Amino acid sequence: MKNIYGIKRTDLEEYFLNINEKKFKALQVFEWLYEKRVNNFDEMTNIKKELRDKLKEDFSNDWITIKRKQEDKLTKKYLFELHDNNYIETVLMEHDYGLSVCVSSEVGCNMGCAFCESGRLKKVRNLESYEMVEQILLIEKDISKRIGSVVIMGIGEPLDNYDNVMDFVKIINDAKGIAIGARHITISTCGLIPKIKKLSEEPLQVNLAISLHVPNNKVRNMLMPVNKVYSIEELIITIREYITRTNRRVTIEYVMLDSVNDSLDNANELADLLHGLNVYVNLIPYNETNHLEFKKSSKETIRQFYDTLKKRKINVTIRKEFGSKIDAACGQLRSKEV
Ligand code: SF4
Repeated sequence: MKNIYGIKRTDLEEYFLNINEKKFKALQVFEWLYEKRVNNFDEMTNIKKELRDKLKEDFSNDWITIKRKQEDKLTKKYLFELHDNNYIETVLMEHDYGLSVCVSSEVGCNMGCAFCESGRLKKVRNLESYEMVEQILLIEKDISKRIGSVVIMGIGEPLDNYDNVMDFVKIINDAKGIAIGARHITISTCGLIPKIKKLSEEPLQVNLAISLHVPNNKVRNMLMPVNKVYSIEELIITIREYITRTNRRVTIEYVMLDSVNDSLDNANELADLLHGLNVYVNLIPYNETNHLEFKKSSKETIRQFYDTLKKRKINVTIRKEFGSKIDAACGQLRSKEV
């Protein structure tokens, strides 16, 4: 049985039409679920009783559950338990511009990036779209506030769970759903080229973030196995095509690892690669974990790297550090549980 929180409004309209009902019923259900935040079909009083019973027969409305929370001043990290007793994590961050949530898209991840805690635990399964929608609904309920932006950058490679992630995006972007503007939704990928191409054809104004992290094949092959399948050169060509097709700027994520990818030569290599592209680079101070040997670059090194990119006319920012005291590296909380 499908969970109602994983159903797009267009699919719900089709469902009603198939049972000889008017399609505006879908709008009514969406208003109950997302505007009034009522999840009990019996309370949807403008829908007649027999139709409510039919909905109960055809859809579940179960919730995933908050198992644990950890927080510091600007960050709250949630460990969610799923119905099959798997765990995922979601991080809420308070930025100057509002609240943003980093959503997980899979239980575990098969991409195997060497510096990533989530990648230590192989993928168990894709998340269903309702499990992504509920991460947001439950956090909004917990803090009694609305979320302004969503990044799909938690556990998992979002484009490796393409269809469910797209359904999730369409539900949260729906003006009658959670109503988060497409420009406030970011999908990240470590570089699955065919899926980036597919994404460029979607009629959605979402942001794309590429987890590049290393500017040469030699080291990227060692740290990010995906690079052995889709090399940096091919990735850059794909990014260029994506920008041309969508006319949207792409974010380049670059996690700063001490003595691994943080030299000034690396900064120049990166500037060479990105020259002339409508991108901006987000330098991310690494969140160290007990399990992995990587260390974060010093503040001074990050500053010099930043200055080098600036001098080379590359748009660049240094990401504010979030939650280093609360196991905020993606996968850290979950890895204590499994
Ligand atoms: S960094 Fe992202 S893609 Fe790489 S292993 Fe971790 S979750 Fe997967």
